[in-house]
Amino acid sequence: MIEFINVDKVYPNKVKALQNINLKIGKGEFVAVIGLSGAGKSTLIRCINRMHDISSGQLIVDGVDVKKLKGKEIRKFRRRIGMIFQSFNLVTRTTVIKNVLVSFVPQLSFVRKITGLFAKEQKIKALTALDQVGILDKAYVRVDQLSGGQQQRVALARTLAQNPDILLADEPIASLDPVTSKQVMEDFKRINREMNISVIMNIHHVEVALEYADRIIGVREGQVVYDGKSADVTDDV
Ligand code: ADP
Ligand code: ADP
Repeated sequence: MIEFINVDKVYPNKVKALQNINLKIGKGEFVAVIGLSGAGKSTLIRCINRMHDISSGQLIVDGVDVKKLKGKEIRKFRRRIGMIFQSFNLVTRTTVIKNVLVSFVPQLSFVRKITGLFAKEQKIKALTALDQVGILDKAYVRVDQLSGGQQQRVALARTLAQNPDILLADEPIASLDPVTSKQVMEDFKRINREMNISVIMNIHHVEVALEYADRIIGVREGQVVYDGKSADVTDDV
């Protein structure tokens, strides 16, 4: 459960990116945040895992008062929340499996870090995550030999390997062609349904948002201007 209570976000340059946001997002929801460029979508999403600090108000994520987290607690908290970016953020010159295993690095002992060895259990988790997104056969292929859609699936697998409760996605299909976008959205939908992971996605393709998300949150100039079921949205949005 994610709850925004009177949340404001003002950047150091005085831009008011979020103004008085009040929202409740329940476990297992698939939410698309839509709006024009500069509306505040990305800021809204990035406050949830504390990539950005809120300026005032309260943000509660799974019972945690996000603003109050300090140091080590922030890292621990972030591990429960997956984050997917438009640009995939992968190490392209190495294999798929190594990219997924990176998600375990903070948990590894110093010796393992320097020798590059991973626990068997972690390897199994990584391979399972690759299977969940349908690219197990690419485990030992270099990332730069994969298509954009396959790369986004590697990013998804890396996130799933951490067993997140929440999956945040900042424009995950913005750099993909329409066919690949559809496949990646199907993956998100399946993960949401089968693993009961909440998905909160920032997306500017309204028609894609309507097709896959259950709930649409419309943002304009830092404020929520629409919040409803995607099934209730008509053509005049
Ligand atoms: P969207 O994701 O809808 O395009 P953003 O959340 O990225 O919108 O941006 C909302 C507003 O905040 C914009 O005016 C943007 O220029 C500004 N902004 C975003 N990030 C920063 C930042 N790190 N520092 C200052 N201003 C920012
Ligand atoms: P994205 O769509 O991935 O958020 P942007 O191009 O909007 O990419 O922003 C890239 C980076 O620049 C982000 O870290 C964002 O917070 C920051 N940023 C965006 N707008 C501003 C701004 N007006 N001033 C300073 N930083 C900004």
